[in-house]
Amino acid sequence: MLPDFELCCSKFAEYKIELTEIQYRKFDKYADFLVEYNQKVNLTAITAPDEILVKHFIDSCLVTKFIDLPEKSSIIDVGTGAGFPSVPLIIIRPDLKLTLLDSLNKRIVFLQQLCDMLEIEAEFIHGRAEDFSKMHEFREKFDFSCARAVAELSTLTELCLPFVRVGGTFISLKGPGEDLDPANNAVTILGGKIASVNEYSLEKDERRLICIEKISQTPPKYPRNSAQIKKKPL
Ligand code: SAM
Repeated sequence: MLPDFELCCSKFAEYKIELTEIQYRKFDKYADFLVEYNQKVNLTAITAPDEILVKHFIDSCLVTKFIDLPEKSSIIDVGTGAGFPSVPLIIIRPDLKLTLLDSLNKRIVFLQQLCDMLEIEAEFIHGRAEDFSKMHEFREKFDFSCARAVAELSTLTELCLPFVRVGGTFISLKGPGEDLDPANNAVTILGGKIASVNEYSLEKDERRLICIEKISQTPPKYPRNSAQIKKKPL
């Protein structure tokens, strides 16, 4: 169970995000369901309510502070796991059109039940990003793609940028420590441009949110298969 409504409001307010009572109730149910489900299926190492609030919910919602997401934009969350960052994002921005993709079916099953319970509309995809972004119906079809804690930036860009239409943006949520320079080559090859690197603190943790704008089509040979990506990152 999350801390009470007033406490959660003041925590969100520290990050300049407003929280309504309806949103609070959804976050509370999400936290309960996550902790309960996590006992049978491994979803997260973060299970203390205060930490779920900050490290999962607020961290995810902070996307809205760094990038404008126009009304009814489409967004695909690649390697979404237990729904981060996109499910908290949808709770505060229910107008967005959400697609959740993960290679582990047990996480997709969790997300289907969660979204059912929270009355969130979404498309669910069980599969690998490198397979689905090659398919006509998913390639360059989204206004935004996003990912948190899935891979290092050059690999992640190969997985996520092909989903984005020219003019759209791939949003990468990162912790500290990764040298971003090696990703420049991948970003250019894949049709992107690093538009911004936003640094901020989440409690005592350093975070970065990187926005990669899609400026031209991704060459058809990308993404390569997972073995090739692993063996020879761009
Ligand atoms: N984004 C979530 C978060 O921040 O809590 C989950 C992060 S978890 C460390 C990484 C997730 O990415 C896992 O659920 C894994 O199954 C998924 N994943 C890794 N590689 C993938 C790929 N190539 N395509 C789709 N999902 C992938």
